[in-house]
Amino acid sequence: MTTEPQTSQGNILLIDDLPENLQLLSELLIQLGYTIRSVTSGRMALKTLKVKRPDLILLDIKMPEMDGYEVCSAIKADDNLRDIPIIFISALDDTFDKVKAFACGGVDYITKPFHIEEVVARLENQLTIQRQKTVLQQEVRKRQEAEEVLYQSRALLSSVLNTALDGIAAMQAIRNPQSGEIDDFMCLVVNPVIAKVFKQTREELIGKLVFKKFIYRINPDFFERIVNVVESGEPLEADFYYPLDEASWFHFVAVKLGDGFAITVRDITSRKNMELELHQVNLELQLLAHMDGLTKIANRRSFDEFLNREWRRLYRSSQPLSLLLLDVDHFKLYNDFYGHQQGDDCLIQIAQILQNTVSRPVDLVARYGGEEFVIVLPETGQDGAVTIAIAIRNAIRAAAIAHEKSSVSMLVTVSIGISCLTPMSEFSPENLIDQADKALYQAKQQGRDQYQLSVH
Ligand code: GH3
Ligand code: MG
Ligand code: MG
Repeated sequence: MTTEPQTSQGNILLIDDLPENLQLLSELLIQLGYTIRSVTSGRMALKTLKVKRPDLILLDIKMPEMDGYEVCSAIKADDNLRDIPIIFISALDDTFDKVKAFACGGVDYITKPFHIEEVVARLENQLTIQRQKTVLQQEVRKRQEAEEVLYQSRALLSSVLNTALDGIAAMQAIRNPQSGEIDDFMCLVVNPVIAKVFKQTREELIGKLVFKKFIYRINPDFFERIVNVVESGEPLEADFYYPLDEASWFHFVAVKLGDGFAITVRDITSRKNMELELHQVNLELQLLAHMDGLTKIANRRSFDEFLNREWRRLYRSSQPLSLLLLDVDHFKLYNDFYGHQQGDDCLIQIAQILQNTVSRPVDLVARYGGEEFVIVLPETGQDGAVTIAIAIRNAIRAAAIAHEKSSVSMLVTVSIGISCLTPMSEFSPENLIDQADKALYQAKQQGRDQYQLSVH
């Protein structure tokens, strides 16, 4: 210990009924940089202490009214002042009881005559203890605050874990001591939702090596992908199917956490089911949008899309494409005589006959509108188209649908216009339709119940 005081020299309160007794000490201490306040009675001391608190008190023993012991006891009885160190000063002629001085709370004593070095040493001793005490108190307070924050964080974490709707877990990598590779993961934290997914209690999971075994049951790939999360730091997000009570579809996100990972798992079963239903409904809508309501064969929209697609395809491969436009003969008379309902049935029957006659999967039979049908025959030239037209006429004749009012026959007949083109830039699908339409008109003109080829 040095006699030189530290940079922050203390505030010292001098209590002596005759301050001139301590004049010399006081001046020396001021020179050394201490701040000195003097009072001449115990009562004044107790008053001034309330106003400004000193770092240390030098206290005379022999004073009128209250002696030093009484002043010391009064200070020590005050909760706010108790920890101010008090050093007694005893003059040569005082009867000084050291035991009593310590018993009433003094920390040290100085007797006259004194060496200033000794006084400063004792003073500094107490001030250092005092400073260290302050530092220690600050440390304790900081630690208490940190503990409080930690406690709050733990409470928050545990409340989040316990009330979360998602499964949450943290896993620690277990590495092979020789190779350093990850053999498995040990469960550090799991919340009740995860425990339910695992069908175990949390106690059965925490600290146990159950991860690899469990994940293999879901998807053997996932283990390696989770290992990759830990080794690369890249998060992993995926859906998985695992039937469990009501739930069966889950979504998880795994992120690296220390030498392991944290995972959240969410039940997405209802969303998945909705997606599947939506997909199904979309498929059905798609189907409906492309189907004719009455005959259940392809509709006009379907035909337009199909023709354009095939046109482009056959344009690339320079192959021919044939189109048959087919109209029921005297169908107005059929309707008028047999009724609209039977007219509908007739159209349904004809649609079936067409569908059955045109058997290649690449061909398309569609209702063009009213009592008109269209047939697209990709990669088919004129001969092939004529063959189909003949087959259709035969099949309709074979069906023998009575048509009493027809001027052509006693049975339902059709007229067919045939066009055939190899797609080229100077033609369009509309040309093919126009030509078939003209050929159909020819067939009607020539007496119906026949096919006509378009002439280029
Ligand atoms: P043509 O031999 O010249 O073709 O004479 P048509 O009577 O068949 O021709 P027109 O175009 O004059 O009449 C077609 C009839 O087809 C008119 C309509 O009542 C009937 N038709 C169109 N669509 C339907 C349908 O969906 N159901 C029924 N029942 N009849 C339909
Ligand atoms: Mg018509
Ligand atoms: Mg007709």
